[in-house]
Amino acid sequence: MSVIILFIDGVGLGAEADYNPWATESTPNLNRLLAGRNLVADAVGRASEKSLLLAADATLGVPGLPQSATGQATIFTGRNAPQAMNHHQSGLPFRRLREWVEQENLYLHAQRKGYTITFANSYTPEFFDLPTTRRGWVSVSTCAIRSTGQPLRTLDDLLAGRAVYHDLTRRFLARKRGDIDEISPETAADHLLGLACEHDLVVHEFFLSDLAGHKQNREEMSWVTRHYDVFIGSVVNQLRQHDLLLLVSDHGNSEDLRVKTHTMNNVPLLAVTSDIAFLDEMEKARELWDLTHITPVALQWLENHN
Ligand SMILES: [Zn+2]
Repeated sequence: MSVIILFIDGVGLGAEADYNPWATESTPNLNRLLAGRNLVADAVGRASEKSLLLAADATLGVPGLPQSATGQATIFTGRNAPQAMNHHQSGLPFRRLREWVEQENLYLHAQRKGYTITFANSYTPEFFDLPTTRRGWVSVSTCAIRSTGQPLRTLDDLLAGRAVYHDLTRRFLARKRGDIDEISPETAADHLLGLACEHDLVVHEFFLSDLAGHKQNREEMSWVTRHYDVFIGSVVNQLRQHDLLLLVSDHGNSEDLRVKTHTMNNVPLLAVTSDIAFLDEMEKARELWDLTHITPVALQWLENHN
């Protein structure tokens, strides 16, 4: 029994409107999880016994648009990063925030309690070839997993089905390298679930949604919504008794193609599990969820089930 965290960058809960690809594109699997609704603000609530969509505040009481570095740092530490840094910090974290994440985070908490953890994303040989100075300039996810001392997943892991590429289907790798084929999002889901069989906590990070949102690129968003929908549908179909799936984002962006920037919208926290009592507790826990609550929910679930 595992917690699977699907972190998807730049997805807020927006309106049922023509500028929101999460509303206009076909997402049958998300619709199934949301009692026929799209992944929009109106869908918040208990869609079924086994699935609950909450709206989480990404602004965290700090003025300005929510950003990736502090949003992700908050998700993966359970602490309010923009408040600690006095502002929302975009992109890759600066040293102070990096050290703040490395000091205490979800993986370290879980490891200390004896749970096995892993970050499913794989890194390319180019990443490992970067000079150490440049390699210090990494995402929150990377510095969080590195703080545990675990090796990062490599291209060999990926090709052996023991990792998931950030874009799910390896299409970026396939474009660059003739020896690598694209795979289906269903196969990516199988690989993720393989890792879930071996670990108590598995995290995957997807960020094409944020990039496409910044570009206001409808075609790219169409690819993102369709493929992510199949991926999550396939993961949910194969969840084992009492696995917990959490889908969360760091800030809004791709749900409003009228703007290039992030948005102030709440973000989705979608929880799917057959542990109905756990969802009941989540549902009545509080009015307003925010990004600091993801880490405690994951840790609580691990404590209840292991
Ligand atoms: Zn962004």
